Amino acid sequence: MASGANSLMWFRKGLRLHDNPALEYAAKGSKFLYPVFVIDPHYMDPDPTAFSLGSSKAGLNRIQFLLESLADLDLSLKKVGSRLLVLKGDPGELLIRCLKEWSIGKLCFEYDTEPYYQALDEKVKGYVSGTGVEIFSPVSHTLYNPADIIHKNGGSPPLSYQSFLKLAGQPSWAATPLSTTISSLPRIGNTGSFAVSEVPTVRELGYEDLPEDEKTPFKGGESEALKRLRESIANKEWVANFEKPKGNPSAFLKPATTVLSPYLKFGCLSSRYFYQCIQDILKCSKKHTSPPVSLLGQLLWRDFFYTAAFGTPNFDQMKGNRICKQIPWKNDDKLLAAWRDSKTGFPWIDAIMVQLRKWGWIHHLARHSVACFLTRGDLFVHWERGRHVFERLLIDSDWAINNGNWLWLSCSSFFYQYNRIYSPISFGKKYDPAGNYIRHFLPVLKDMPKEYIYEPWTAPISVQRKAKCIIGVDYPKPVVSHDSASKECKMRLGEAYALNKKLNGLVSEEDLNELR
Ligand code: FAD
Repeated sequence: MASGANSLMWFRKGLRLHDNPALEYAAKGSKFLYPVFVIDPHYMDPDPTAFSLGSSKAGLNRIQFLLESLADLDLSLKKVGSRLLVLKGDPGELLIRCLKEWSIGKLCFEYDTEPYYQALDEKVKGYVSGTGVEIFSPVSHTLYNPADIIHKNGGSPPLSYQSFLKLAGQPSWAATPLSTTISSLPRIGNTGSFAVSEVPTVRELGYEDLPEDEKTPFKGGESEALKRLRESIANKEWVANFEKPKGNPSAFLKPATTVLSPYLKFGCLSSRYFYQCIQDILKCSKKHTSPPVSLLGQLLWRDFFYTAAFGTPNFDQMKGNRICKQIPWKNDDKLLAAWRDSKTGFPWIDAIMVQLRKWGWIHHLARHSVACFLTRGDLFVHWERGRHVFERLLIDSDWAINNGNWLWLSCSSFFYQYNRIYSPISFGKKYDPAGNYIRHFLPVLKDMPKEYIYEPWTAPISVQRKAKCIIGVDYPKPVVSHDSASKECKMRLGEAYALNKKLNGLVSEEDLNELR
């Protein structure tokens, strides 16, 4: 590209100014720089009934988080002499028009491994090819380039964390100096015929505003991400001793983990910056935990799932997914609805689902509890249907990580110890015997004595009356008996595993893929 030509910075994830190699490159030697974000209808479904109809498109809390992130990005761009140009429509078509109308010589965007973006980027690259427009698309969302790891592993992704670590070694990119923090940007040129808008409101996108107590307490944006990062790592001892399974999933006033996931998801926080901040602390700590349980180990889980997802066709479904066990899950709408709408009658499960709906974020072990309960633990409902619900409600909903963890929790891939089930009664009790978490998210049970808070159906009727909560009237009876349901789930999984093994032995991998 000739120096002095125009550049277009296409923001998708990577909604930040710090450590943003694509933005840094876009700014270099350009006459005009157009920072663009396209609001993509593909990800949205504002219809309020969409949730109960099973839509996995972004729910209101995530859209709100995204818009806050865009508003923050716009403000930061304005401070360095630019602004965010928001467009709405099909990103591929809009981008191609922008390139033409604005005489763009350099198109910069962060590389994205999600199938949707892979297809979109192919379309844009196809258009650009032969036009002389330079494309710069660096890997900067993850610590590693998933393609490098897959290449090192002979063309397929490693399927265990330990083999991933062995292949990955020291992250080469993550250890390199951060991109220069942007202090000024080239001006924006004429935007011509484009309907460029300010960052819209949720209402302008067709979403109904939520009541205050249904809104996530987490605010989107790079400024908030950096503040949260500073606060999270201020206690160096906490960082050094971080040990994932030991955290308390019922801690909601001060969550036991960083809650940086939504900021990493949208790229408001650079994973490389996060990685280096942790490394700096560990270097000065006499003793510290290690992967997989350490904080650094958590970031590496993220890369592990990104690599597995990138290298596995049909990663987000059972059919045609070579690493996914074929299991005859139920498609029981009633059980799914009870789980989704916090009406299973198990307070620990229902409270978590309320937190998920209202906050868009729940602790990792809370995710374990409800995902296990829906699938292999109690209800035997297909993991893809639970994944859909998470996809809509989580503010950190991430294609690779969400699917990877649902595959894991349902014992469909990665983890196969289906006899180890989370009890919907005793697991939560271990952390929160008084049931404060349940009382907070399910106020209908707030006066239930602590002996019954995890199993209110066992409370004598006089106790239920006193607590102003009659089971079966004010709060549901359990949808299943945990003891018999979990036994049946184990039996069905045992049968399914045996059949998978038999099929694997009898037919070639190719034929098996046909069957799947
Ligand atoms: P911390 O413990 O502070 O960890 C720091 C960062 O490491 C996280 O922000 C996240 O980016 C990464 N990380 C932590 N745990 C995992 C993990 N198991 N897998 C991959 N990356 C991890 N995480 C998402 O970001 N998006 C999802 O859509 C998502 N869906 C999930 C679905 C299920 C069924 C389960 C069991 C887990 C899911 N997770 C998902 C993983 C994990 O629960 C969250 O990343 C974590 O709880 C976020 O909280 P945190 O930022 O406080 O994590």
